[in-house]
Amino acid sequence: MVSRTCLFALLIVSCCFFLPCSPGAEETAVTKYGVSPGTMAGRTLVSKVRAKEVDRRSSSQKGEGKSAGSGRTLGEAPAVPVFPSALVTEMRSWSNPDYSRVSVTLDREVKFAYHKLRRDHTVNLPERVYIDISGARVAPGVKDIPIGDGLLKMARVGQFRPDVVRVVLDIESIKEYKIFPLSDPFRIIIDVRGERRTEISRLEESIQASEPEPDIRKEAVGEEDKAVSAKGKPGKVRRIVVDPGHGGHDPGAVGPGGIREKDIVLEIGKKLARKIRHEMGIDVVMTRSTDIFIPLEERTAIANKVNADLFVSIHANASLNKSTAGIETYYLNLAKTDKAARVAARENNTSLEKVGLLQSILFDLMANYKINDSARLADDVQKSLCDRVAKKYAGARNLGVKQGPFYVLVGATMPSILVEVAFISNEHEAELLGSQEYQETTASGILMGIRNYIKGLH
Ligand SMILES: [Zn+2]
Repeated sequence: MVSRTCLFALLIVSCCFFLPCSPGAEETAVTKYGVSPGTMAGRTLVSKVRAKEVDRRSSSQKGEGKSAGSGRTLGEAPAVPVFPSALVTEMRSWSNPDYSRVSVTLDREVKFAYHKLRRDHTVNLPERVYIDISGARVAPGVKDIPIGDGLLKMARVGQFRPDVVRVVLDIESIKEYKIFPLSDPFRIIIDVRGERRTEISRLEESIQASEPEPDIRKEAVGEEDKAVSAKGKPGKVRRIVVDPGHGGHDPGAVGPGGIREKDIVLEIGKKLARKIRHEMGIDVVMTRSTDIFIPLEERTAIANKVNADLFVSIHANASLNKSTAGIETYYLNLAKTDKAARVAARENNTSLEKVGLLQSILFDLMANYKINDSARLADDVQKSLCDRVAKKYAGARNLGVKQGPFYVLVGATMPSILVEVAFISNEHEAELLGSQEYQETTASGILMGIRNYIKGLH
């Protein structure tokens, strides 16, 4: 066991290439995130971090990694290596019309710090952002990703020290970047924004990573003909993405008797998709049509990739107060109330404090967000849904249109909303949610709202 561990350590150390950066290359101070809520709430500036960078480039890049290794010796490694426990299991990227997203998934929460480096002419390296992940190692099979979308050139990952993984983004041209964690599974999200020089339609190959799951792809392709025929119809909406929340290992909120949000919203989502196709003749892509897990960061990426005109995320609400009931619809903005922030925390699968962190960075990410159109879509859907439900069920409560920092809506380039169709934590509403009739009524109400929104476009 001991010898195997030693061998492993040797392997890691032998994979480390250190690249000294030219003096003064540091541009931005490191922002460091810890996993404890106290640390997460604030941004701690760590000013004195050596500007070194692992340069584990692929052999196709003219052996740069080799030359990079000539600068520093392995003596930088701690004398007694601390063996890491977290594993970087995946790195992915998505290219959207004016921003790119990279996610780094780990098998547990970790501490990380990030830093930006200016272009280094002396060693011919572009502007870079790097993230150091403490107490981690790279799982076999996790590789560098060529991006080349006009904003980012490449995302690289390497074992910087025996207990530190470094992720480097080679920048082509960006205006800003935001880095923050999401939970379950723990991942570090890097969103970069800028003005893309390359047309997104020419990026098909580089956005293969965002290919929807097979069942999503099938639905999207299967509806292609309808999409074409819908083009002749009035209105500007040709394709709608329906996003049933949660799925797979993420049950969402769980109500009395074990009723799960992920099952209910999938049923409502499927009913809504069917109605949109058959009653409006508009193409629908579902982010999921089975019980699978789709990370939040991928859902809007799917909508952007299929050029959707509207994005409707369906959820069921929950509250510690079991008597709380009603319908509310959200669009992306800073939360105006504690209640809205709490709903966002639950839907983002994160703590209230982490929602505070997301709020502080959200403004920049929302630069191209269609806030007015989203607010209007939210108004129309909320009104129609409440009217429809109230006609059939006495006591239906309209909680109104609200705003919140829902990560699933971040990066959407089309009007997008999140509908909380009822409270699954309320015994009466949980019972309703479980019935086919109520699900059907809810789907009809959302459909009517979408229809009214489209009518208003003329
Ligand atoms: Zn939800």
